[in-house]
Amino acid sequence: MIRKPRLFTPGPTPLLPEAQAALAAPALHHRTAAFRGVLDRVRDTLKYFFGTTNEVVFFTSSGTGAMEAAIANFFSPGDRVLVGTAGKFGERWVELANAYGLQVEKVESPYGKALSADKIKETLQQLGDLRGVFFQATESSTGVRHDTESIARITRQIRPDALVVVDAITGLGTSELDIDEWELDVVIGGSQKALMVPPGLSFVSVSDRAWQRAKTAKLPRYYFDLQKEREAARKHDTAFTPATSLLVGLVVALDRIHQLGRANLIRNAQVLADCTRHAVQALDLKLFAEVPADALTAVCAPSGISSNDIEKQMNEQFGAVVANGQGSMKGKIFRIAHLGYYDFTDMVGLIAALELVLTSLGYSCNLGAGVRAAQNRFIELVASVREPASR
Ligand SMILES: *Cc1c(COP(=O)(O)O)cnc(C)c1O
Repeated sequence: MIRKPRLFTPGPTPLLPEAQAALAAPALHHRTAAFRGVLDRVRDTLKYFFGTTNEVVFFTSSGTGAMEAAIANFFSPGDRVLVGTAGKFGERWVELANAYGLQVEKVESPYGKALSADKIKETLQQLGDLRGVFFQATESSTGVRHDTESIARITRQIRPDALVVVDAITGLGTSELDIDEWELDVVIGGSQKALMVPPGLSFVSVSDRAWQRAKTAKLPRYYFDLQKEREAARKHDTAFTPATSLLVGLVVALDRIHQLGRANLIRNAQVLADCTRHAVQALDLKLFAEVPADALTAVCAPSGISSNDIEKQMNEQFGAVVANGQGSMKGKIFRIAHLGYYDFTDMVGLIAALELVLTSLGYSCNLGAGVRAAQNRFIELVASVREPASR
């Protein structure tokens, strides 16, 4: 049997074919007129993708590089910050802030649960001076969506000077984030998620408040220096050699997103996520996330079956790469991505494969029940399927 390799991991995600073709083009030198055109276009369309009038800076690094930049550029040694954490990526904020010598306060929720805006409010009221609040828009390790708007508004109300720093690496392109209206000071993205290009580029949107802070922030920085990149951007340039091929691919992907419309990209993930949730529940599987994100669906492995085996069999039998749980969740959950270049056929094919794999692992499931639930939900959500005559 032919098996097509397909990524269903919440990063890296499948490449947009036009972007993939652009990645293979002959190299451009970065200090040429042709490449400056690419840079200008990337910078404009990134603002559209983020949905902000704030400047969006990029770095050649995976997403974590931009997270590091968000600490190194806006804070000084010993600054007190609050991290909302409920998974592996929240823990990354804690580790990064500790590595830079910040005084870290935490508001935690257990894996699978969302951050409590009330708990964050209480903590903000109790703590004195606080320079920043960090959290994820969506926690990719657990599939949970946090309430970015509430957390941001509460922070602004109680601590007007604190910077709101959001890791939206899987939140962008999968959920509505109103960066300007909610006053999100620093928002982070990465190329290998909803942007449909390979890993290697990270993005940071920076508010005026945050640029002001950067002027007095004393933590050391060199490569990940946002002000240096901003100055270079004004000259249609970059501070260092950028990942030219990735940027050439990214322009194509961003143009495609612009054509499609940001809202439609988000809706695509929402519909596929919604259908997937209906499908797995119809198979009597439990969702791991209390408040599920649309970027990905985290599913609990049925009792007696390890998600290690589900992951392995999905790949071996069908070429479908789903993500296992991370850390203590390994073996217990598996994760299915919806962000970026996915369509109905990908989703429903995955569910059909999952039904067969679960059956082969001894789980008694009603073949077709998941597929049928996904189909029915799709009809409810996407009315045009029912009304071909109106075309
Ligand atoms: C993918 C991801 C990151 C970044 O990880 P990198 O491997 O450095 O690209 C950070 N936060 C979240 C929520 C992610 O999904």
